[in-house]
Amino acid sequence: MEQISLYYREKAWSYIPCNAVSPYHDLRCGHRIATKTIEPCGSNCTHPDQNFPFICPTCIIWQVVLGLGLEEEQDENEPPIAQLECLTMEDVAEPTTPTAGASKVDCKVAAIAGEEIQRLRKQHFRDAGATARVCGIAQFLRDFPEAVCRPRKEAPRMQDVLDLLGALGIEEYPEVDELGEILNALSTNAGGS
Ligand SMILES: [Zn+2]
Ligand SMILES: [Zn+2]
Repeated sequence: MEQISLYYREKAWSYIPCNAVSPYHDLRCGHRIATKTIEPCGSNCTHPDQNFPFICPTCIIWQVVLGLGLEEEQDENEPPIAQLECLTMEDVAEPTTPTAGASKVDCKVAAIAGEEIQRLRKQHFRDAGATARVCGIAQFLRDFPEAVCRPRKEAPRMQDVLDLLGALGIEEYPEVDELGEILNALSTNAGGS
C-alpha cells in the first residue's frame, strides 16, 4: 500500500471521534454526537476532558419518549428516528421546530425535548446533533475512495487494513468488527479499474 497524503490523513482523522480535528464525539452514554465546528472533548466524552459537556439529543429524546409512555411504539434497538430528525444539527438552534411531515406525537416529543435542551444550555451544555456510530475509517474510505491506491488485482487482506491504520498513524486498533468493516470498504474500493 502506498503512502497516504497528509491531506487524506487529516481527512481520515476528522472521521474518528474525540480528537483535535474531528467534529464527532463519543459520549459516556454510548451515543455519538456531531458539532457544527470542531470542539474539544467535554466532561461527558468517553475520554472526558475538563470542558463543558455536550447535549446528547438521543438521550433526551429517549427520556421524553419514556416519560410519555411511548416506548412500546418504539423499537428498542433503534433510536426514535422521526423525533431525532426533529433535532438534527440544523434544528438545534430551534429545537421545537419539527421537520415537515412529522406526526403530532413527534412534534410533542420534539417540543418537550426542546425545552430540556434550553434548560441544559443554561447549565452550559454545548449544542450537538445526534449522529450514527459508524466506523469512522470505513466511512472515510467510502467517502474518499481515491485516498488509498492499491493494486487492483488482489482482494485486500486484513494485513492491508493494518497497513492502512499504520499509514494513518492509528496506534490503538479499532474493535474487531470495525476491522471487518474497514476491510469491506477497502474491498469495495478495489473494484475500480
Ligand atoms: Zn470527545
Ligand atoms: Zn446519549
